[in-house]
Amino acid sequence: MDARLRHPLADLVTVMWHYVRDPDAEPRVGATAVDPVTFEDQIDLIGRSRTVVGWPAVAAALGGGRGLPSDAVLLTFDDGLVDHHRTVLEHLARRGWPGVFFVTARRTGERLSVGHRIHVLLATLTPDEVRAAVLHRLGRTDRARFLGAERRERAAGVDAIDVLKRPLQRDLAQAAGPILSALIDERWGSEADLADAIHVSATQVADLRGAGMTIGGHGRHHLWLDWEPADRVWAEVADSAAFLADEPKPWSFAYPYGAGHPVAAAALAKAGFSAAFHARTTMATGPFDLGRVDAEAAGVGTMLRGSGR
Ligand SMILES: [Zn+2]
Repeated sequence: MDARLRHPLADLVTVMWHYVRDPDAEPRVGATAVDPVTFEDQIDLIGRSRTVVGWPAVAAALGGGRGLPSDAVLLTFDDGLVDHHRTVLEHLARRGWPGVFFVTARRTGERLSVGHRIHVLLATLTPDEVRAAVLHRLGRTDRARFLGAERRERAAGVDAIDVLKRPLQRDLAQAAGPILSALIDERWGSEADLADAIHVSATQVADLRGAGMTIGGHGRHHLWLDWEPADRVWAEVADSAAFLADEPKPWSFAYPYGAGHPVAAAALAKAGFSAAFHARTTMATGPFDLGRVDAEAAGVGTMLRGSGR
């Protein structure tokens, strides 16, 4: 293909991690994770197969500047999880590699996002138990909405666990969110303390920054930006921009749940962001539509090994 027609990031592989931890690491979560040994294997493979680049180099290429190596890889870590400070940082620092950490703009003492409340509850309850506990406490109208949303997701063919999660995170977030919080408080005493323990602190973010890592935006309450009303989308983006105020530009963003939307892209551009990543491997159609590969996906090793063309 004519080089001028090639997307500037056509050769880039961007990898996305979430939890990087042993199953029994505290605080416990009932969510998929990459264990530290597997993580080490993955980055060994990356070191043998590819050239790790940082966000500034990717942003420059995206802006029409110097191109990236044909075997470039960008390492990204979502949700501002304590795992990234506890486990990931030392692995990257030892190799002198940069990474992008998409940290939510939550403040110390704030509750978990609805998505992360579900993770915490699923550490000790089965999905059916969470479902039953929520249904039991919902009012009649919300219960009907929940069952309708479940039917919709099941018909859409999403994974069984997402038939539970999506209605709670999207349709029922306002009604079921406080119920999930109550279930957590009843079991652990303080959801806010648990939230502080799961996420990086401001000091830990400073450590990441001090080690040469890039901090990016990920909203504040980890919402589906393709679902929420526009005023809440703009507020999430504004909170992220305020959180990054002292970070060098260009700023990048990762859509929570990978869910981009034109309203979110417009809000991001207005707030001073230069690019945003979703969570699929499709070719980018613009700076606010950058794809990523999930480090938990089957076949990720083949992708990382690549051929260098
Ligand atoms: Zn996230």
